[in-house]
Amino acid sequence: MEPFVQSNSTNTMHLQSWENRFTGLLAGFTTRVGGTSRTPYASWNMGLHVGDNPDDVVSNRRRLAKQLGLPFEAWTCADQVHGTTVQQVSEEWTGAGRDSLDTVIPGTDGLHTNQAGVLLTSFYADCVPLFFLDPRQRAIGLAHAGWRGTAGRIGEKMVEAFEQAYGSKREELLVAIGPSIGGCCYEVDERVIVQIERTTKQWQQAVHPTEPGKYLLDLGQLNRLLLLELGLRQEQISKTNWCTSCRTDLFYSHRKEAGKTGRMASFIAWQQEGVRKDS
Ligand SMILES: [Zn+2]
Repeated sequence: MEPFVQSNSTNTMHLQSWENRFTGLLAGFTTRVGGTSRTPYASWNMGLHVGDNPDDVVSNRRRLAKQLGLPFEAWTCADQVHGTTVQQVSEEWTGAGRDSLDTVIPGTDGLHTNQAGVLLTSFYADCVPLFFLDPRQRAIGLAHAGWRGTAGRIGEKMVEAFEQAYGSKREELLVAIGPSIGGCCYEVDERVIVQIERTTKQWQQAVHPTEPGKYLLDLGQLNRLLLLELGLRQEQISKTNWCTSCRTDLFYSHRKEAGKTGRMASFIAWQQEGVRKDS
């Protein structure tokens, strides 16, 4: 069953099974529909770094925070660099980057926290959004995994960060792999494949050769294989079937739109005590 379920009223995809199971959890992925940005960012662009009008982006972000029932001050994000640095978000970082690139958490592709009322976000147009949850320790996290981050094992860095920061047990973690460019559309060359070959012995399960020197790479599947190799079980991992390049009606696709486009946001947060999302 598709884990990311589109809500007709909000144009946001929610990780419905997680939200239903864990009271107070908000987790999901935005679509490109329903915002104020203009072409080529039309219309619900969440990225301040892509050349869109910043006022539109901030308005788009505010709309999501409002939908989620969180104050905009909770919105926290990082400057993503296709690296593997992960950062714990405590009070001093809460709210970083919400309305300006000047205050963003620098050089970071993974965020995690165990504090309620912190809205972790990260931005996508084809790369793989990873969502992490330790229900027992109430720890949550997001990681941005393009091919570089995936090959650099950012998923493993997140699992280790949860173990160190919260005493998480990896057999209790849940991970969701969100909408990205799929194995149907993501063509790569030898330069990428030589890096992918080093990630796991199972790498061929995520790669399909098409013509000499060309391959279709399923990055979501590769992340799944890497998580299984860390000792997570199948049932701990949910993986989407949405492809951002197949569905540019719903998603931005850096590849399909030749680099000039907006960004969706992945998000995860615990509601603050006493605040209900439908209030
Ligand atoms: Zn596709």
